[in-house]
Amino acid sequence: MTWNGQSHSEARPVANCSQTPPFNRGAAYTKSREDSPAVRDRGANGTSPLNYDHIFDQAIQRLHGEGRYRVFIDILRNKGAFPNARCFAGHNGPKPVTVWCSNDYLSMGQHPKVVAAMEEALHDVGAGSGGTRNIGGNTHYHIDLERELADLHGKESALLFTSGYVSNDATLSTLARLLPGCVIFSDELNHASMIAGIRNSNCEKRIFRHNDPAHLEELLAAEDPSVPKLIAFESVYSMDGDVAPIHAFCDLAEKYNALTYIDEVHAVGMYGARGGGISERDEAAHRIDIIEGTMGKAFGVMGGYIAADTRIIDCIRSYAPGFIFTTSLSPVLVAGVLAAVRHLKESSAERDAQQAAAAELKRRFREAGLPVLDTATHIVPLMVGDPVRAKKISDILLAEYGVYVQPINFPTVPRGTERLRFTPGPTHTEEMMAELTAALVEIWDRLELEFRKAA
Ligand code: PLP
Repeated sequence: MTWNGQSHSEARPVANCSQTPPFNRGAAYTKSREDSPAVRDRGANGTSPLNYDHIFDQAIQRLHGEGRYRVFIDILRNKGAFPNARCFAGHNGPKPVTVWCSNDYLSMGQHPKVVAAMEEALHDVGAGSGGTRNIGGNTHYHIDLERELADLHGKESALLFTSGYVSNDATLSTLARLLPGCVIFSDELNHASMIAGIRNSNCEKRIFRHNDPAHLEELLAAEDPSVPKLIAFESVYSMDGDVAPIHAFCDLAEKYNALTYIDEVHAVGMYGARGGGISERDEAAHRIDIIEGTMGKAFGVMGGYIAADTRIIDCIRSYAPGFIFTTSLSPVLVAGVLAAVRHLKESSAERDAQQAAAAELKRRFREAGLPVLDTATHIVPLMVGDPVRAKKISDILLAEYGVYVQPINFPTVPRGTERLRFTPGPTHTEEMMAELTAALVEIWDRLELEFRKAA
């Protein structure tokens, strides 16, 4: 079974860790530079397990060698004018760019209600929360937002975390440890944060083929009926833009008496009449035990959460180290999310405009013969199939066309499926789409890349 080109059981969110020599800190605590006694004693030939600099250099070299070393872009968004931004790449002052790869899918990070709510909170209660939720860091904003999110998903309760990553890791690892002998059934394309949670639970896991209920059933049927089971999957898979067969998975959960856990990170705010995600759109929320989401994508700010019945929330709140032992989100952030969630419960204008923009961009790419994946969601992946070429296209777009889109490489996607992932939003205009498509056609020609033949 593969996850991002690796075996799921060995999958690591950090590239190629398996090639890193083991650190034996027990052997010596000297920080061994080339000229330190520890390294000199061992020959300083660059292969010593205590030559830390060399090991770090090699780790970075591996990424350069594969053409997937990441470079941060130095950018500022222009508030109220998204997707316009300023890029500080050269020495001639900031250059205007158009952002095409933001996960602030609905531009809520710029929304006047969100900005005003954050300003008001800042002036009302100050910057930080001042502690963990249990000691010093609880505020009325946190409680309000949890109520709002529980209502969004039709659940009794919700619980905030500092990110979507932490919510997955903390909840999955804690749940499985609370259920004696629990076996987790995990979709092979689950996000790194879910894999981390499953690994940290130390429980048994079974990996089922992506979005494949038949394979999931085979694995469920092979298990002892008396052991606790948890089925973990995402709703929208953010790289290929496909959607899980939620009802089929819930049918199996009922048949085999398993709990269900869904990651709706790329769907909350985006789907359903009130932004409750695919589980709302497909009228499946009541069949799912734990719904997880982020506040950093369609809600435009930062943080993560789960929604579930009060009993489960109380257990996670009381046992998950990732919730207990960390400073809670700033009330300023929470106030911004509250405004975004409330707005998107009532307004579908942003969702509709975003869906229209995604459909329009896919149509333009398709008609230009560009190899776009025909997804059923808002994600627009343009397939390149090679990390060096993907980076080259991204570099040309930024330097020559003022278009900002990052290449997506392993381990986020399997090797050989590298791509550019466009996220058009409600504020990307048709003119911007026409310019982008023309730029890509020119680059495809210049680099002699293959166009897709008309069907
Ligand atoms: N789950 C999925 C499917 C994701 O794609 C991501 C992030 O991209 C996360 C969880 C983590 O969410 P956050 O960015 O809020 O940490």
